[in-house]
Amino acid sequence: MVTRGEKVVCLGEKMLRFYNTLTRQIENFAPQRDEVRIYTCGPTVYDYAHIGNLRTYVFEDILIRLLKYKGYKIKRVMNITDVGHLTSNEDIGEDKIIVGAKREKKTPWEIAEYYTKAFKDDIKELNILEPDVWAKATEHIKEMIELIRILEKKGFTYRTSEGIYFDISKLSRYGRLSRLKLEGQIPGIRVKVSREKRNPSDFALWKFASPSHIMQWDSPWGRGFPGWHIECSAISRKYLGDVFDIHCGGVDHIPVHHTNEIAQLEGATGKVPARFWMHGEFLLVEGGRMGKSEGNAWTLRDIKKRGFKPLALRYFYLTAHYRAKLNFTWKALESFQRTLEKLWGEVSTYGEPEAVDSSYKEKFLQEMEEDLNTPRALAVVWKLVRDSQLRDGQKRTLLLDFDKVLGLGLEKIGGEEIPQEIRNLLEERNKAREAKDFFKADTLREEIKKRGWRVEDTPEGVRVKKIYKDIEE
Ligand code: AMP
Ligand code: ZN
Repeated sequence: MVTRGEKVVCLGEKMLRFYNTLTRQIENFAPQRDEVRIYTCGPTVYDYAHIGNLRTYVFEDILIRLLKYKGYKIKRVMNITDVGHLTSNEDIGEDKIIVGAKREKKTPWEIAEYYTKAFKDDIKELNILEPDVWAKATEHIKEMIELIRILEKKGFTYRTSEGIYFDISKLSRYGRLSRLKLEGQIPGIRVKVSREKRNPSDFALWKFASPSHIMQWDSPWGRGFPGWHIECSAISRKYLGDVFDIHCGGVDHIPVHHTNEIAQLEGATGKVPARFWMHGEFLLVEGGRMGKSEGNAWTLRDIKKRGFKPLALRYFYLTAHYRAKLNFTWKALESFQRTLEKLWGEVSTYGEPEAVDSSYKEKFLQEMEEDLNTPRALAVVWKLVRDSQLRDGQKRTLLLDFDKVLGLGLEKIGGEEIPQEIRNLLEERNKAREAKDFFKADTLREEIKKRGWRVEDTPEGVRVKKIYKDIEE
């Protein structure tokens, strides 16, 4: 390693560089320990995740995959919010899990369990790697209470009739992440706030519950349930320590949720909990905000119902840089599904991987290492596919290597299990050929094609390959 001015450069290997919301700059990244510790805010499990949420998880997945590709060991935690996330960020409104329970006439626990499973199914279909630790909020109440007690002892809290609140005026650097000016915010004007709050941006650490509230626990302050922000602080600290490497989420978390997470841990430990804060931009729908009330909060189920493959959605996300807004339209998804099928089709014809030493790898990594530039990395992929200087086997080797980062399912291409029905037709066709009934053999070849498989007669014998729509035309 050499130091050039402010920048640390690894000789012989390019460093990873990521945009850090905390400093508003692209910075060199290196972990503090022998592993990269990452916290990724997880879903509130009261409904299916929408494809906006899923964009954020795919961005995080690309980050994790790149770090793994670079040889880092990873410790990654994701929380499951199954209590405490209210319908408004301002600590008013109902708990979202309770809203889901009422909607579906189930208990909050059943709702949380059902949508946690649905979320895990979704990420699997999108080829998102699972975190090392899944942490449910309801299983970390003790840790949250401990953290609130520390804040209480240090004088950051006060009590209202509704709960225990964090007093942001006690922390001089409150809001360092969002850089919002807090002066001039008049209570009750920007948002509806509790009259008992000392400052408009003060937030609940612990909320008191009425006897009818289903999810509630004992605490030193009375029965109730935790605020949403304390959940991530208590969980990240428990598994990753006071200061870890990267904290991720969507851009909507910058002004409130992550600002408050920093406040809680800076209050308790005197340190900002993560060195890098990385945020994925929003997915828009047909040019506007995605939302339940707009009727356009599409889920992965909707995508599949319309005949699209989950990985087409993943490809679509990768066509934009994670820090750029991306507009979802059905037309765009259709077009990128065709592009992905074209890629799969190309790979399916490549045969066995061959050893290769090529500058494509360097080019691909160059784009990914500079703040995860997936659109430019995809351009490298297509340049490689079109390069007539490379042999097919070499292309396969390179593409499979890149796909460790992109996760577009390329490793499965070409190696699919041949269904029994196709095997039977093939055998019939072989018999027809032996009997020199070429008309029947051709008819059977067409039958097999109709079922999505292509027959190839090669000097080594008959082979079948799965057909990916576009390349056949
Ligand atoms: P939630 O379940 O509401 O906590 O959201 C889960 C994740 O999705 C968070 O990291 C949000 O920042 C993110 N998110 C919410 N809406 C969108 C959107 N339209 N586009 C991208 N990410 C989003
Ligand atoms: Zn969080």
